[in-house]
Amino acid sequence: MTSFLDLIGDTPLVEVTRMDAGPCRLFLKLESANPSGSVKDRPARAMIEAAETDGRLAPGGTIVEATAGNTGLGLAFVGGGKGYRTVLVVPDKMAREKILHAKALGAEVVITRSDVGKGHPDYYQDLAETIATRTRRAIYINQFANPANPAAHEATTGPEILRQLDGDVDAVVVGVGSGGTLTGVGRFMRRRSPKTEMILADPEGSVLAPFVKTGRMIEAGNWAVEGIGEDFLPPNADLSLVRDAYSISDQESFSTARELVRREGILAGSSSGTLLAAALRYARAQTRPKRIVSFVCDSGAKYLSKVFDDAYIAQEGWTERERRGTVGDLVASRYRDGGAVSVRPSDNLRTVFARMRAANVSQLPVVEDERIVGLVDESDVLGALLTEGSAKAFSRDVKNVMVTRLETISANAPIADLVPLFRKDLVAIVLDGDQFLGLVTRIDLINHFRIAR
Ligand code: PMP
Repeated sequence: MTSFLDLIGDTPLVEVTRMDAGPCRLFLKLESANPSGSVKDRPARAMIEAAETDGRLAPGGTIVEATAGNTGLGLAFVGGGKGYRTVLVVPDKMAREKILHAKALGAEVVITRSDVGKGHPDYYQDLAETIATRTRRAIYINQFANPANPAAHEATTGPEILRQLDGDVDAVVVGVGSGGTLTGVGRFMRRRSPKTEMILADPEGSVLAPFVKTGRMIEAGNWAVEGIGEDFLPPNADLSLVRDAYSISDQESFSTARELVRREGILAGSSSGTLLAAALRYARAQTRPKRIVSFVCDSGAKYLSKVFDDAYIAQEGWTERERRGTVGDLVASRYRDGGAVSVRPSDNLRTVFARMRAANVSQLPVVEDERIVGLVDESDVLGALLTEGSAKAFSRDVKNVMVTRLETISANAPIADLVPLFRKDLVAIVLDGDQFLGLVTRIDLINHFRIAR
């Protein structure tokens, strides 16, 4: 190793051996092993170096990109390492963890609206272009049309795959965000391994797989998987390279990612779940043994509070649990499953505060022997602090501070029975018999209406 840039690429390839790949062998290339954690480090480096080579980027220059994710991290890593200023324009719905990661790498983050479309000055791509135009010695990277993006995969990802599989690859299963991976790897295989089929894995709701299948543009929908799927055809995505395409639901993508870590120990992100689900379907549909490669595009560590959070999965309605149209359906985190955050009557207010902060909730049930004995919220804690001073109040037992006059509701009650409780500004304390099941708040009811649509 001579430079931080040498950390990019040469990623490991592992075989999936504990999942059903039909008659085939299935391999995953771990792009999560790149230094900023994703497949995007390769094009980030290539796009920056191409701009250096043609003179658009020089010392003192600024790199600007519109990105909601991994491309920004790659640019921050490479750009920061090379001493450039990096400005990322991100829509305000982007996960906090990714913004903090980009800032930790030294990037400046400009947050903009996510409720406007292309052509609006606040749309993240339009705003990035404006910032690049108005900033001296700045370049707008534009991964969707920048030829160095697919070129990076043609020069590195494709050759690595062929070498790691001793020149024998029947199919590569890819997702398309910008199209860099598809087009780069596809072009390389067309030249060097013409038998290799490129298979598209696409989230349901994206226009890409339907376009491949029918040649027609559908109206784009919504999907929760991050980094792949589009509502337009990116100039960098050469869809003529694609032999077949699979549309995969969010639920299947998430459950496949969860299965991957349980069976193979590989913690992969949501887009990797989509790719693996498509790869498994393709593999099982084969009648003769084939050698198939797909990607772990980034690590599941970025999605712990989504893909790997049982409460999130329950809120999406993706559990095996039977739905009965009663209040019990809305309890996403159940006390008896260890899901609901709670305190015991003898815990002190320091513990109460720590648990509220860690779980980002404003109230906690106080539970003893599976029964709820009280409820404590921020105003109870603040009240104690203001009357007694913090030193004393924080060591107080919650049993002296909690509210004990509780209105409860049965898990078997109809969902409509929640409404009067919420009108009285109460949180619903749900009981199964006399056992505490969990809390239901307004956001749970709102979410219930969302998934019931
Ligand atoms: N997975 C994830 C998590 C990504 O961030 C991206 C890039 N947007 C991709 C897959 C797809 O890569 P590409 O841009 O090469 O199409």
